[in-house]
Amino acid sequence: MQGSLIKLSGVCCSYQTPERETDAVRDLSFSVDEGEFVAIVGPSGCGKTTVLSLIMGLMQPSSGSITVRDGSKCGYMLQRDSLLGWRSVRKNALLALEVTHAVTPEGEAKVDALIKRCGLSDFAGSRPAQLSGGMRQKVALIRTLSTDPDLLLLDEPFSALDYQTRLTLSDEVYSLIKSCGKTAILVTHDISEAVSMADRVLVFSNRPATLRYETQIYEGRANSPLERRNQAWFSSYFSDIWEELQA
Ligand code: ADP
Ligand code: MG
Repeated sequence: MQGSLIKLSGVCCSYQTPERETDAVRDLSFSVDEGEFVAIVGPSGCGKTTVLSLIMGLMQPSSGSITVRDGSKCGYMLQRDSLLGWRSVRKNALLALEVTHAVTPEGEAKVDALIKRCGLSDFAGSRPAQLSGGMRQKVALIRTLSTDPDLLLLDEPFSALDYQTRLTLSDEVYSLIKSCGKTAILVTHDISEAVSMADRVLVFSNRPATLRYETQIYEGRANSPLERRNQAWFSSYFSDIWEELQA
């Protein structure tokens, strides 16, 4: 567990319904180091969300083990922003602190600073319906960051957004996560998104999910996601991952 914040060893998991048993994850092993940004790429329905649920402790593996470093907290951000329509942006951003009874003046100041940093100050009193999809996702991210999680789990957070918003938001989210020094696991089916944001990309097989391929991205560390997309090396990572997904 040295250096790693989380470690999965031989994890298996299946869903039981009255009709059938569905193997979702089989013999999955990987670990994530503190401060690392890992992207998981895999076909739709392969078991990516299941893996995040396992890490969160919302589900138990049928065999294998998941070890999270003592005292570490996970924060979860979903594809759908799940903001409450009747609450203002600021009230939505404060929700995670509220439900954990952790609202403090410092917590509120931190949320306000994040709102400002995300360029949402003018919308703090607005309702979510008055925001664009990208802005709503930023509010959801602020809410996730507000409780100061050690590990951020991002489940296809950009996939409901249009292409241009996705590109700019991934840049903003990347710099926010890196500047907070957070460890993150980003689940996506978008290869470019993975290569542009991650330090390391894990490729999952079709269901049941298992680790098929893994690649470290050294070149891009100093670049923002948008800059990475324009680098000569970018397309070779893309095609390697693409091939693994097709195989
Ligand atoms: P992904 O996030 O990669 O699209 P999921 O982890 O959501 O995939 O699902 C993996 C597989 O497990 C899918 O084939 C899905 O049908 C099945 N599955 C997911 N959730 C449930 C559930 N609550 N009950 C039964 N089967 C499920
Ligand atoms: Mg999913």
